[in-house]
Amino acid sequence: MPEAISALSATELRVAYRSGTLSVREVAAACLKQTERLDPRIKAFLHIDPAAVLSRAVKLDERRAELIDSPLYGIPVALKDNISTAGTPTTCGSHILEGYIPIYDAGVVEGLERNGALPFGKTNLDEFAMGSSTENSAYGPTRNPWDTTRVPGGSSGGSAAAVSARMVPIALGSDTGGSIRQPAALTGVIGLKCTYGLISRYGLVAYASSLDQIGPIARSVEDIALTLEAIAFNDPRDSTSLSDPRGGRYLNALDRPVTGLRAGLPAEFFGEGIDPKMRTSVLEAVKTLEKLGIKVEECSLPSLRHSLPAYYILAPAEASSNLARFDGIRYGPSADVPDIIEQYSATRGSGFGAETQRRILLGTFVLSSGYYDAYYLKAMKVRRLIRNELQKAFEKYDFLISPTTPDTAFRFGEKTADPLQMYLSDICTIGANLAGIPALSIPCGLIEGLPAGMQLWGPHFGERTLLGVAKSYLDASGCNGLRPQILKDGQL
Ligand code: GLN
Repeated sequence: MPEAISALSATELRVAYRSGTLSVREVAAACLKQTERLDPRIKAFLHIDPAAVLSRAVKLDERRAELIDSPLYGIPVALKDNISTAGTPTTCGSHILEGYIPIYDAGVVEGLERNGALPFGKTNLDEFAMGSSTENSAYGPTRNPWDTTRVPGGSSGGSAAAVSARMVPIALGSDTGGSIRQPAALTGVIGLKCTYGLISRYGLVAYASSLDQIGPIARSVEDIALTLEAIAFNDPRDSTSLSDPRGGRYLNALDRPVTGLRAGLPAEFFGEGIDPKMRTSVLEAVKTLEKLGIKVEECSLPSLRHSLPAYYILAPAEASSNLARFDGIRYGPSADVPDIIEQYSATRGSGFGAETQRRILLGTFVLSSGYYDAYYLKAMKVRRLIRNELQKAFEKYDFLISPTTPDTAFRFGEKTADPLQMYLSDICTIGANLAGIPALSIPCGLIEGLPAGMQLWGPHFGERTLLGVAKSYLDASGCNGLRPQILKDGQL
């Protein structure tokens, strides 16, 4: 049955490929079928070319002997549509890039292909990854497979929804302030933002370059580890790319014992602004961690409360500069006006949506002379304080625990009227981006039928600890592979 095959994890698919019970073509066909069946309702994908997916699958079947040992051999992987794919449209969820077809692949796409993966369509996002609900996509929002009247989170909402709805086992997202972890939490799947620099940004359309990271979304921790083995490599084309000093293996970290690890519970993420039900849900999960022998202790990170204002100065500042390239001359459609200045303004005025324009204006303002010191420089100082405070916390703790989001998936339109309400969705996730540290969101149960996410924060290059803890927790808690009820009911 196609849906059953498309619901298999990459780890399960690898077993099936090894034993010869499935071919890549069969798996591709099953994922396409599930997508065809559900995506008219979910709208996770902006672009998918079934014929191309199938022909690549056939080629992978032909290369079986050569690639079978690769971490992602024959695994369909969906890509957020701000990741450059040669010959395939890349819109960033924006009208300004309508019709743009890149001539090169992102570093991660090369990494996937080198490791035998099957690129499977481009997923919806908030325009230029600015948002927390996919409602800022110029091509309409994605729906949450748990409740189609609710948002899937954002900005990588299409990637998270595609994984949650069992259309693909793995998707890549990008995370500048929470855009992998928040949608993963709201759709009941796993999302990892790595240490800044661990995954190449070459070919990721830049939003805020000092914060942006590509990362995996999947339904099992093993699949997250497998993806890292394929896409975490040093890429000289990204000047901030690093090599993991502990080597490139992640899968073997999952069996590490977690007993005796020390974890901090920052009080700032369990008080004001966090739904009490979310707090209870994460604290329940903490009890499970304690049963596994992890020593959990309350701690305090006072400067973290400044992370939201700092982010909303720094990210727009970088965006205002990064998005200057979209002028209607080099990319996308341009307005037909004789005067060049008028042409820029008409193209950018109609090509960018309201939130993108707001951030370009805000960013230009905080960088302008006379305001630079008061806003940008001050926010940079706050960023340093946050980073220092977190570094200090990791002298004492192996990892930190918080909710991923303040509440569960909200309804469409609930937070669109007031940008600040939307920005508050990221209150638990932004700190990790400002500090450049890894953070992993894992499901920790349901609140009134909707998924809740727990976030594990680690020190630089602490991915392995986070993955190991996540694996032990998910095995012990029964939160592994939470399945949207409406998939079971056949309503979707
Ligand atoms: N939601 C945050 C924003 O709107 C984070 C986005 C992201 O991580 N790309 O900027």
